[in-house]
Amino acid sequence: MNVIILGSPGSGKGTQAQIISKKFNLIQVSTGDLLRDEIKKNTEIGKKIEEIISKGDFASDDIVNKLLKNVVKSPEFRNRIIFDGYPRTVNQAENLELLLNENNQSINCILFLSVSREIIEKRILGRIVCGKCNKTMNEYIDKNEVDAHNCGKSYLVKRKDDNKEAITTRLDEYIKKTKPVLEFYSSRTYFHKIDGSEKIHVITSKIEQILNL
Ligand code: AMP
Repeated sequence: MNVIILGSPGSGKGTQAQIISKKFNLIQVSTGDLLRDEIKKNTEIGKKIEEIISKGDFASDDIVNKLLKNVVKSPEFRNRIIFDGYPRTVNQAENLELLLNENNQSINCILFLSVSREIIEKRILGRIVCGKCNKTMNEYIDKNEVDAHNCGKSYLVKRKDDNKEAITTRLDEYIKKTKPVLEFYSSRTYFHKIDGSEKIHVITSKIEQILNL
């Protein structure tokens, strides 16, 4: 089963992809994480990517499509991917169709998490990520969880692009470039719109119901 999880920045895609991948033995493929890995390598391309994403702009389709190609072709990922943060443009959606076709795979389910802008801003500004286990928490909403986190507080960091200016650019980019991706997919029978403003476990159980159909 290959699943796409769509939604604006801060809609909870990453959080749900992480939970669902464990429950259904899938592999979460976050293009944001793949790009951040490139930045960590400190290569020339990594430096360019850092400059782009710290402002909240999108990385080029070319770069992201290349990263994705390696994943889709790899046998260990075959038919067990949750795409998190991809596709973000219609070009990427078209590329994904071709790539999956070439590799005799398909998309089985598309989940769209719908959330208001007000909630998104609150979630992004409070977001904190564990550099060790990659768990995402919110320092305003889950204060107790942050304090009790197993890996220890020293691993908890804020993302560089989780600030007011970058959020505005990221949301503008989402409306301009990613909303058309929803139109591209919305007539498909396996497209599901979910209220992403609910509590994490409520959203997870709705997703579980859909995936168990
Ligand atoms: P995310 O971790 O999904 O919030 O992504 C963080 C940032 O990485 C985004 O704001 C973009 O700058 C970049 N990014 C992630 N996925 C893509 C993609 N599919 N296409 C272009 N840029 C991306």
